[in-house]
Amino acid sequence: MLRRNRNVKIVATLGPASSSYEIIRELFLAGADVFRLNMSHGTHEDIRRRHEMIRDLEVEMDRPISILADLQGPKLRCGVFANGSEMLEEGAPFRFDLEKAEGDATRVSLPHPEIFQALEIGSTLLVNDGKIRLRVRDLSESHADCVVEVGGEISNRKGVNVPDVVLPLAALSEKDRKDLEFVCALGVDWLALSFVQRGKDVEEARELARGRAAILSKIEKPAAVKAFDEILEASDGIMVARGDLGVELPVQALPPIQKRLVRKCRRVGKPVIVATQMMESMISSPVPTRAEVSDVAQAIYEGADAVMLSAESAAGEYPVEAVETMNNVAESVESDETYRQIIEASRTPSKQSVGEAITAAAREVAETTDVKAICCFTHSGTTASLMSREKPRVPILALTPKPATARRLNLTWGLHCVVTPEVERFKMAVVSAARAAKAHGFGTDKDFIVVTAGVPFNTPGSTNILRVAPVDEKKIVDGGPE
Ligand code: PGA
Ligand code: MN
Repeated sequence: MLRRNRNVKIVATLGPASSSYEIIRELFLAGADVFRLNMSHGTHEDIRRRHEMIRDLEVEMDRPISILADLQGPKLRCGVFANGSEMLEEGAPFRFDLEKAEGDATRVSLPHPEIFQALEIGSTLLVNDGKIRLRVRDLSESHADCVVEVGGEISNRKGVNVPDVVLPLAALSEKDRKDLEFVCALGVDWLALSFVQRGKDVEEARELARGRAAILSKIEKPAAVKAFDEILEASDGIMVARGDLGVELPVQALPPIQKRLVRKCRRVGKPVIVATQMMESMISSPVPTRAEVSDVAQAIYEGADAVMLSAESAAGEYPVEAVETMNNVAESVESDETYRQIIEASRTPSKQSVGEAITAAAREVAETTDVKAICCFTHSGTTASLMSREKPRVPILALTPKPATARRLNLTWGLHCVVTPEVERFKMAVVSAARAAKAHGFGTDKDFIVVTAGVPFNTPGSTNILRVAPVDEKKIVDGGPE
C-alpha cells in the first residue's frame, strides 16, 4: 500500500534524464507528487509523450498525480555573434541595438524594441545568469550604450535580465500562447507563469486557460516582489523561483523574501512552491551537500506546500536519488517536535466563514482526541485547502468525486487526495470516508476519524457538518442530517 509519510509535497521536473516510463514511475515511487513539464525545453512531441506516461502511471498506481506545465514567459535574449561569442572587459563600452547584423566585441542585437523605451540612463543589464553586468550610459529608441561593470563571456542568444524596470512586455509571448493552448488541450492541472510582473498578467493567462488549469505565478522579478499582494490575489498558487530572482536581486535578499512570501501564501491558504538549486550538487553527485539538506529542511520548517527539483531530476545523473533524498529530509524534519512547534506558532487563525470554523474545529478535535485522520469532502477544493491551512497533526484525506480537483490539490500541504464516488446522503459520506481511511492505511477498525462534509451534497462551498466516526463501517450509525 502506498501512502506518503509527510505533509510537504515534492515537485520533480521532467527532462532528458527522466523521460522513460520506468524512470517516471521510479520518481513517483520515491516520492514525487507533482511532475513539472518545462515548456522552455523540448518539443511539443516530447511534452505530449511525458504527459501520456504520467497519465498512464496514474492509472497503474490508481492515485491522482498532478502535472504542472511551466510556460517560458517573456525571457529576453540577445542575438548571435559572428564569432559565436566575445569577451567583454570591465570598463569597455558595449551597445545593444535593433540592428539585424551579427554581433562583435562592440555590439549585439537585442531584438525587443519595448526594452529601449523602458530603460533609463543608469539602468542595469545582466547577461548570462547575471554573470555579466552592464550599466546604461546613453539611450535612444533603437539602442542602449552601456559600460561593462563586470566582464565575462557573452555568447549567442544568452538571456538578458533588466532588474530595475517594469518592462512593458506582454505577460505571454506568442510561444507562450501556443504552449498554453497545447498543454490545456492535453489536460494539465497547473500552469506556471514565468516573469509575472503584475496581477493583470495572471488574469490574461486565466482568460486563455478558461478553467482548464489552475494558475501559479512564479515570483522571479523585483517588480513581482513589490506587487506580490496583487499577484497572490489573482493567482491560485505561487512559486518562489529563486533562480532568476537571485539574478535580478542580490542573493542575500532571497531568504527574507522566501520567508515573507511563504507566510503570505499560508495566510490565504494558497499553495507555495520553494524552487531552484535545492539539491543542485546532486546533478552530478549521489549525495547532496549539508547546506542543501539544510535549505530543503528550512523550507519545510517554514510550512511551504512543496519543494521542487529542477535540473536534478530533469537532466542530472541521479534523478531518483534526488527525490529519495528530499523525501528522507522531509520525513526527518516532520517527525521532529520542533517542526510541530514552529508550524503551530506560525499558524494564522481565521474563522470568518462556516467552512473555516468547521475546519478549525476539526483540527481541535484531532488535537484533543485520538482520531487517526481528518476526512474532508470537497468539490472545488476550497474546504480541503482550508483544512490544510490549519496544519493539523493528523493526516488529511481530501475526498472528492472530481479527478481534476484531486489532481490539483496534490500540490497542497498535507492532503492525501482520493477520488470517491458521488455521495447523496450523509451516512454514505461517513461510510465512504471510513473505507478510504482504511484502504489507504490511515486507520484500522478500532480507530476513529473526523469527517467534514456539506449538506446538501454536491453544492460547492457548503461545508457545515463535523462528525467523529469509527473506521469500522459496521459501527457507523444512521442519524444526523440526510
Ligand atoms: P526556471 O524558473 O527554472 O524556469 O528558470 C525557476 C527559477 O527561475 O528559479
Ligand atoms: Mn526562472
